[in-house]
Amino acid sequence: MKLFKSRKTYYLYNPNTLSYERVYPSAKDRFFGVLRHLSIGIAIGVGIFYILSRTFDSPVESLLKKENKLLQTQYEVLSLRLTNALEVLDDIQQRDENLYRAIFQAESIPESVRKSGFGGSNRYEQLMSLSNPDLVVATTKKMDMLSKQLYVQSNSLEELITLGKNQEERSKCIPAIQPISNKDLKRTASGYGVRIDPIYRTPRFHSGMDFSAKVGTEIYATGDGVVTFAAWKQGYGNCLMINHGHGFQTLYGHMSKFRARVGQKVKRGEVIGEVGNTGKSTGPHLHYEVIVRGKHDNPSKYYYMDLTPEEYDRMIQIAENHGQVMD
Ligand SMILES: [Zn+2]
Repeated sequence: MKLFKSRKTYYLYNPNTLSYERVYPSAKDRFFGVLRHLSIGIAIGVGIFYILSRTFDSPVESLLKKENKLLQTQYEVLSLRLTNALEVLDDIQQRDENLYRAIFQAESIPESVRKSGFGGSNRYEQLMSLSNPDLVVATTKKMDMLSKQLYVQSNSLEELITLGKNQEERSKCIPAIQPISNKDLKRTASGYGVRIDPIYRTPRFHSGMDFSAKVGTEIYATGDGVVTFAAWKQGYGNCLMINHGHGFQTLYGHMSKFRARVGQKVKRGEVIGEVGNTGKSTGPHLHYEVIVRGKHDNPSKYYYMDLTPEEYDRMIQIAENHGQVMD
């Protein structure tokens, strides 16, 4: 209405009446007039809105932007924490492989199984359409790696629990002490490995460990087991053997006296005989062997039960360096 009122008034000269006559606009003219004004108004409005919207964010937009920024930061933090978690898991895997699985003599889990990848490169394709795909894909990948490696690790521990249950029985059978009382280690004569032959003076493989001791010194079974041999054996003199099960056997040579019979069950620390000088021997001593799954092994590897780490180190040194083989 206001528009109408402010509208200019038009006059037309009429030559018949010789006067100016007022002209009133038709309804059509008025309609188009309104339309024109409206169009201009809308155009200006849209223009201003466009400029403003390019310059300033709407409250919803700025809220979304803030939220987006926060989410991105959160993603970065998560990605970092996943990296840390993977490092911790890596440490656990190392310990699992080199310590726990080794203790229980479990088969090693190859790196290719522990850290195997995922098939197909388009696994993360649906994420690639995001505005920041690298961060999201990298984080998702890390999460996938973590869950897969945790699954393998958890299976490994499950297996070790089962092995651990058998371990107590097994640990009683392992030849884990020295075969004679040797607190001050003075009786350690010679260790396992290539040594000079006491008679021929040539290098020869010594398949056991020698303990020098007086004739009659008590000899102990080094683990639970059954006596499988107690008789004269070429070179070893009076010789006794124990089968400990779990692949372990021990042999005691040059004895003066047997104090256990074939077929007898013996416990760790039980007296099975006495030190002597029988067979090929250069003086009273005990020759002691540990046989693991049919092969000779270094007996000193198994003395962990009655030696402190310091004593153990000292014994290894004596056996390695000062050793005089007595055969
Ligand atoms: Zn020997």
